[in-house]
Amino acid sequence: MTRIAIIGGGISGLAAAFALEERRRSGTELDYVLYESLPRLGGVLRTEHIDGCLVEAGPDSFITEKPWATDLCRALGLGDQLIGSNDGDRKTYILTNGRLVVMPDGLMFMVPTKILPTGLSPLFSWKTKLRMTQELFHPPRAADHDESVAAFVERHYGPEMVDRLADPLLSGIYGGEAASLSVRAILPRFAEMERTHGSLGRAMLAARKKLPRPTNKTAAPLFTSLKNGMQQLVETLVARLNPNSLLTNAPVEAIQPRTGGWSVSAGLKSEHFNAVILALPALASAKLLSTGSPELSAELAAIRYSSSITVGLGYDRAVRQSLPAGFGFLVPRSEGKRLLAATFVHNKFPHRAPEDRALLRCFVAGSNAENIWQLSDDAIIAIVRNELQQILGLRVAPLFARVYKWKSAMAQYGVGHLDRLDRIERLRQQLPGLALAGNGYRGIGVPDCVRSGQEAAKQVTGIP
Ligand SMILES: Cc1cc2nc3c(=O)[nH]c(=O)nc-3n(C[C@H](O)[C@H](O)[C@H](O)COP(=O)(O)OP(=O)(O)OC[C@H]3O[C@@H](n4cnc5c(N)ncnc54)[C@H](O)[C@@H]3O)c2cc1C
Repeated sequence: MTRIAIIGGGISGLAAAFALEERRRSGTELDYVLYESLPRLGGVLRTEHIDGCLVEAGPDSFITEKPWATDLCRALGLGDQLIGSNDGDRKTYILTNGRLVVMPDGLMFMVPTKILPTGLSPLFSWKTKLRMTQELFHPPRAADHDESVAAFVERHYGPEMVDRLADPLLSGIYGGEAASLSVRAILPRFAEMERTHGSLGRAMLAARKKLPRPTNKTAAPLFTSLKNGMQQLVETLVARLNPNSLLTNAPVEAIQPRTGGWSVSAGLKSEHFNAVILALPALASAKLLSTGSPELSAELAAIRYSSSITVGLGYDRAVRQSLPAGFGFLVPRSEGKRLLAATFVHNKFPHRAPEDRALLRCFVAGSNAENIWQLSDDAIIAIVRNELQQILGLRVAPLFARVYKWKSAMAQYGVGHLDRLDRIERLRQQLPGLALAGNGYRGIGVPDCVRSGQEAAKQVTGIP
């Protein structure tokens, strides 16, 4: 009987456990134990129901284009529980000199594909609009080294594009800054476009031409989620696992390579396993490997993480009617606010708030979050409300407010991340029976984490 330890009960560890459970049920002789340090499973996936609203404490959805989370939901029998974002109402605003300006139609990340909407948009100065035209003549360039997203975008479109678009868009996903994130790790498609076409604008238009003509079939929504929130995925996964294999309140303090496997120590107990899946933030994995493999530990510790705070706020019908249409807004750092983004949840996923409620999800991350981390929930709510008043003119008190803090939960793929991953992989292969999963490696979103857990299960069982 092969014994496998999974350390970490977030979505990466649960996806690994489910993949092992499926193999066990189909006759493979294996057993697994999942260790989670907290009393609850799910990691940052957590949903609360407050005053008729569905409030997501962590992720609220996942990108539809990446199939692994949707496929997992289907495999769990949740196909009829999947919901799409309300893309008919998909409008995002950028706070520009204190005013909300709608992102022009046709922007693919920061690449304009429609001339008129971008040309007329007050989001960009004439200087940047001129840069957009010049960008169409950018020569192909095979980059021999990695660079930051900010440097890459600035080379194509100038600094205003970094400030107004690239940085806020990435802050909303990674809670980090374009100046320190790797273009190769985060925007590999764009780096490839530059290599083949030079101009990102021309590459995007060429890619569009190759797409099949639009049919009457409705396009897939940009974001997918679950009717009862992201926790529905966690609860369904947990219900399908062997309850005796799930240990909560069980922080693993040490792991050591041993002949034929690994010893895992949690509390006063050490157990022997043939293999270990570390489904943890890279820094937590680094700590556990500090004596077993100091070199691997150092590489893992070099993957930085940022902390974030989400604040859920519920309001009445009058507020709902007063808010702009669309999914929400992003705040460039140059606007000098703590908020990085806010989602109008009642528009993005209408079933998450009754018709007489507005539901806002506000996001603070990175140094902005660290600076207010020690404050009480009431003080954080006051800061967020003050900024909502400045941005939206929203003065009334919310019907409810909740603060959720996530310490060092979002990986930041720094410049050189892919080279680091190669080194990590070489070092990992020297440690038989060790697999790594989680958001520190090849994708921070829920679908990538699901895939990482599934891949780790494949690695330790040798079964595809
Ligand atoms: C606020 C926020 C919003 C996000 N929004 C989105 C979104 O909308 N869409 C999207 O796709 N992604 C989003 N993400 C990213 C995505 O949710 C995460 O990357 C993903 O859920 C991470 O899952 P994980 O299992 O790898 O890690 P985690 O969820 O961090 O789980 C790791 C688990 O390991 C446990 N642990 C740590 N140390 C030990 C130990 N020594 N022993 C035992 N257990 C241990 C922890 O308690 C934790 O439960 C968001 C992330 C955050 C923080």
